[in-house]
Amino acid sequence: MYCRSCGKELTGTPEFCLDCGASPMAGSGFCPACGAATTAMTGICTKCGARVAGRGDNTLPVLAHILGLFTGWLGPLIILLVTKEERVKNHARMALNWQLSFIIYSIVSGILILAFIGFVLLGVIFVLDVIFCIMAAVKAGRGELWKYPLTIPFLKAKPDSSGTA
Ligand SMILES: [Zn+2]
Ligand SMILES: [Zn+2]
Repeated sequence: MYCRSCGKELTGTPEFCLDCGASPMAGSGFCPACGAATTAMTGICTKCGARVAGRGDNTLPVLAHILGLFTGWLGPLIILLVTKEERVKNHARMALNWQLSFIIYSIVSGILILAFIGFVLLGVIFVLDVIFCIMAAVKAGRGELWKYPLTIPFLKAKPDSSGTA
């Protein structure tokens, strides 16, 4: 395997990396299977196809996105506040970013109703809300962190050092 913190090739699965001293699975900088560079956002290694995230329980990440669909920003915010896992928080942050953007887009569309185009825009963003939340939830189920498109990045994903990323 390769150390996820420093990328050095290791024999077996040692408790600590001989090179950097970190727990080899603790970082998120390198793919454990091939040593390619990864980020905290990487779910599947782009080089070898190995799953580099999703070792942990994906229930809360999936819930963060699904709750967004039904409760707006409230559900993801509650998950962000109650969880201690950075990995789960990142999902809640991504869901929150979209839900807050969604509110802004709805308000803008609401204003534009006066110019008729608002009706069309409102329809489009409500459809997008459903599609985005489901896509994010499906990817979360696979352990992937998905950045919602067309979303204002109010909150940024933080590197996960819990070792379960
Ligand atoms: Zn190392
Ligand atoms: Zn790889």
